[in-house]
Amino acid sequence: MIKGFAGRVLELDLGARTFAFKPLDEAIARLYLGGKGYGTRLLYDLTQPGIDPLGPENPLIFATGPLNGSLAPQSNRFAVVCKSPLTGGIGSSACGGSFAFGLKKAGIDVVVVQGRSELPVRVEIDGDADAVRFLDASELWGLGTEATQKALGKGMHHAVIGPAGENKVLYAGIVSDARIAGRCGVGAVMGSKGLKALSAQGTRKLEMEDEAGFKKYTQWVRQVFKGHPVLGEKLRRFGTLGIVNTTNGRNMLPTRNFQAGHHPDAMGLSGEYLEDHGLVGVRSSCLHCPVACGREVEVPGAGRVKGPEYETAGMMGTNLGITDLALVNRWNWMADDLGLDTISLGVTLGFAMELQERGMLATGLAFGNPEGVAEMIDAIAHRRGLGDELAEGTRRMSRKFGGKEFAMHVKGLELSAYDPRGSFAQGVEYATTNRGGCHVQGASMYFESTGPLTINPQNLKLKAEIPVVQQNLACAVNSMVLCVFTTYGLVPRHVHALKPGGWMHRLARVLFENSGPAYRLIMGAKLFQATWLDTWLSRVTGMRFTPGHLQEIGARIFNLERMYNLREGLTGADDTLPDRILNEPLFKHMTSGHPLAELLPRYYEIRGWDAHGVPLPRTLKRLKVRV
Ligand code: SF4
Repeated sequence: MIKGFAGRVLELDLGARTFAFKPLDEAIARLYLGGKGYGTRLLYDLTQPGIDPLGPENPLIFATGPLNGSLAPQSNRFAVVCKSPLTGGIGSSACGGSFAFGLKKAGIDVVVVQGRSELPVRVEIDGDADAVRFLDASELWGLGTEATQKALGKGMHHAVIGPAGENKVLYAGIVSDARIAGRCGVGAVMGSKGLKALSAQGTRKLEMEDEAGFKKYTQWVRQVFKGHPVLGEKLRRFGTLGIVNTTNGRNMLPTRNFQAGHHPDAMGLSGEYLEDHGLVGVRSSCLHCPVACGREVEVPGAGRVKGPEYETAGMMGTNLGITDLALVNRWNWMADDLGLDTISLGVTLGFAMELQERGMLATGLAFGNPEGVAEMIDAIAHRRGLGDELAEGTRRMSRKFGGKEFAMHVKGLELSAYDPRGSFAQGVEYATTNRGGCHVQGASMYFESTGPLTINPQNLKLKAEIPVVQQNLACAVNSMVLCVFTTYGLVPRHVHALKPGGWMHRLARVLFENSGPAYRLIMGAKLFQATWLDTWLSRVTGMRFTPGHLQEIGARIFNLERMYNLREGLTGADDTLPDRILNEPLFKHMTSGHPLAELLPRYYEIRGWDAHGVPLPRTLKRLKVRV
């Protein structure tokens, strides 16, 4: 077995209450690494087309990768893969916390949960004893994620659902510690199986090819992180809320259901505001992460809890016309405890507010007015009254009540908090990402809008190329499994040091946009990172990584996801953006919205797909994608 992997897959059948340890498939691990890549391969192979995402036949796959359990910074993450009940296509989500560490220490790379338990169940995995226990979870059913983990105790590492997952809210997530695998409704799939919690522990040692070399290299990477303007300073100092002022200043912070990109009072939600007003409590992190981008905040009645991320501040804040941090803190805490994805939740609430504003549905919710929001969040998680409708997400609501033109989703997954009209590559990424409108499957906006700004975010140059490179990289990173913020650290600090608008910056922009074939240019910009991640992986696994290898692995995973979606009935027509983004100008100089139609053919061409977005046989052959 390749080093870095524990070498075991645990298969659980909740209906029969049986389990089996199987060897990890080394050939798959070589082609797809672990995490999302391995999980997607399994999902494709284990399922028939057209299965019910909330039926027992939809496997819920928890997958770690070769860097998990290694003490590498940002490596305590696991991927969850299944068919998404929200989109009907590939469902994948990643989570921090400590469960990945517990699973790897138990000597397990992947857990495949099959079937359904009639009664609430929880599963404990004792890796040292090779024991798996199916335990009654009736008393935990109905509890929030916080109380559930408290009841389970600190002896093991947990992945749990809250009431939203139990009630199969289509954007329910899975929580480990204070982190959530929020997207695609993976928590609803766990709830449909009657599985309240999965817990793991063990003391097994991870075998590495070159442990001394890995440790030395990791120390060096830690130093890089420390001196890095984003990982070592901005994220550490302000958390992800440090992005609020950037996107607000660039007119791309969703406001009132994406009707605007700027809110005059958004400063009140920013990391800088938190710091200035002494509101930063303890910094919090996923296990062993030196970046510690999390914040703890005080919520009256709840105590000190995890604070909101940037996405939450955007979607539960300005997107609802709200800039009161105390309110966002409270709603964020509620959503975490109920086990809801705050991005989909915020977009769905914003959609409900606009329905009310236009007189299309009496939701009792209004932009800028907090009245009824907390009650609605609780009603959604418990599917009470109108909450039952909102629990279905924006796409289904728009089909039932109208408003398709301002339903802010792609493929059924609600958009995250970067308006793509201010970030064209990000728009292409939203439109083409297999799991739907998501920013962490590439984070192209970092290259054009929120990062060191080496290109113009609103022309057509490189806007089809960047998403390809970024999506491939994200697929590989999510299969190691590392935090996607790792990719931010891959842009060298001297690029960040360029003064925006200064002559060096302008020169860098011209060079970046015009010198040589665009694809190779971006690859060049990625050389530093690719070398870094390659070296890390090589020292753990012993596999040889040549330049471009991670891009190839990422492209393989991305194409397999694509083939899965096509098999489930999605088509190129689903590679689109909401009408509001395509047709409504957001900036004074715009006459229309995002120029997706001009960029999509080029994107397909680079991907090696036909004009309908279907991978060509030669592309699949080159990437060794078996279908
Ligand atoms: S950077 Fe933040 S989200 Fe990423 S691993 Fe560290 S603490 Fe977790």
